Amino acid sequence: MRIQIILLFFFALPCALHAQVAGFYTTENDLSLKWAKLPVRICINKSVPKEYHKNIIEAAEAWNRNFDKKLIDVQCSSKNPLSDLDNVDDHSIFWVAKDFKRYTDKTSLARTLYAFDEKTADFIDSDVVINGETYNWKEVKIDLTTVLIHEMGHVLGLQHNFIFPQSVMNYYPYVGGYKKTNLESIDLLLIKKMYFDSKDNVPLYFKIFSKGDLEGAIKELLTREKTLDANELYALAMLFQKIHDLNSAIKYMSEYLKMVPNDFMALYKLGDLFWSKDNADEAIKNFKKSIEISPNYYEPYVSLGVIYLKKNMREDAILNLKNTLKIQPAHYLACSLLFDLLKDKKYQKCFKKYAPEK
Ligand SMILES: [Zn+2]
Repeated sequence: MRIQIILLFFFALPCALHAQVAGFYTTENDLSLKWAKLPVRICINKSVPKEYHKNIIEAAEAWNRNFDKKLIDVQCSSKNPLSDLDNVDDHSIFWVAKDFKRYTDKTSLARTLYAFDEKTADFIDSDVVINGETYNWKEVKIDLTTVLIHEMGHVLGLQHNFIFPQSVMNYYPYVGGYKKTNLESIDLLLIKKMYFDSKDNVPLYFKIFSKGDLEGAIKELLTREKTLDANELYALAMLFQKIHDLNSAIKYMSEYLKMVPNDFMALYKLGDLFWSKDNADEAIKNFKKSIEISPNYYEPYVSLGVIYLKKNMREDAILNLKNTLKIQPAHYLACSLLFDLLKDKKYQKCFKKYAPEK
């Protein structure tokens, strides 16, 4: 049996180890990876403190309640030590209190690991590690259930999906400190195709994008430009950003926001696009709107901090960078900037602790 191990990052960039087909992981021969049998049994390891069991159960439930058949079974316990992670007979959710960097970046929230059989395209193992070292989950304003819903999407075989605005597999936002427990239609559709032989079609542009053809996906969307729905406008904006056509990205993200004005992530992204074009005023406007709607989403605070710093607005910069750390205490860029501004040793300490090692 040829076994492949895939490592999934939580908020590092997704690594394309294999071609993707419509949001699934695939083998080198383009077979879609999945579990041969449902439910996937992934047990709560004894390392997980009792008070967080409910987050794991809630996350599994978020997937299970949408289907007649159970997808994930977490109502079992495993007593194996963390060193058993490579044991393919043990599928567990581990709490890692020390040396989390052995599994991924030390500021990642969690990570899912897989093993699969290259010939049959069946998963043979999956484990989730939760970062209990960097984060004090009792204090941090990051919702563990939301994080675990995303990781369980990986457990089931879903890839990151940055072109659907509300997908739980849209990897970037889940470090943001807000709660999202409902799955998006695309998440459900991909699972139905994988495990329930659904005849429903995945949108054509999504299929093209999933094969890595960004220009092709843009072309397909533009043939229907006058009738695009909100999801498609968002996808178009994200695709244009990926090919560095910022003006088009701004145009379509603005159109998306006319339809979905309260999407704080999209407001952040629009601000970021404006900032990439050195338009500080528009960037600030959109970042502030994003914060108004979702005060626990940390991204716009960092960006505001950086812009105010460039504009020599010291007090505003300090306030926004401090706000970043209130939500995401391991944000080493914010720590580094605050140390430069205030020369307070605690920020230097935080930077040294969380910055990636060379
Ligand atoms: Zn992920």
